[in-house]
Amino acid sequence: MDIDISCPACGRMDLIQSVPAVHSDGVSTSSGMDLYSGVGIAANGLVPVFGSATVERTHTTALARSLAREPNQRPVARITVLGLLLLLPALLVVVMSIASAATSNNPEATHVGFLAGAALFVGGIAAPGLFVLGVAALRGRRNGRISRGRRNAHSVWQSAFYCHRCGSAFWPFSPAPGVPARQAFAPQHFRWFVWNAGGYANV
Ligand SMILES: [Zn+2]
Repeated sequence: MDIDISCPACGRMDLIQSVPAVHSDGVSTSSGMDLYSGVGIAANGLVPVFGSATVERTHTTALARSLAREPNQRPVARITVLGLLLLLPALLVVVMSIASAATSNNPEATHVGFLAGAALFVGGIAAPGLFVLGVAALRGRRNGRISRGRRNAHSVWQSAFYCHRCGSAFWPFSPAPGVPARQAFAPQHFRWFVWNAGGYANV
């Protein structure tokens, strides 16, 4: 069976390229040296620190980004650690107040009003940490949704072609239900079909 991969908009084939090829053309990595500065802790106090580090960067062209198979996943590990660190003061207050309640004979310490005030105080200190952990949980859920949908999105994404003459993408045949064949789409519209197939068009 012959598949017609001519562009549905201009009818030509000379500037047709498969979408994965266009995408990989537009993504490159480079490595270089980065200088950093900061403050370190030494025996005699805080000292300025300067140094350099090798970093790797990914460059993506606007075209490659507009034909991306999926949105970028957002890192979770670092903000989870941050959230836990922000919870430490609240934890410390809880431990200290339990310790002081256990050792004190003051009946005031077990008073309901006192306990409610303490709970409010601890809640106030814990709020930023809980907020950051909440953001981390939302990111994790979004990342999971992208990972689960990637397989379906990939089969739709990889069977498409892009016409450099018209700047539009199309499918020579329909790769999945609801994806029209031989119809030219702007990159953003094309991407919506792919992300929708992966179930993450709205993340
Ligand atoms: Zn064309």
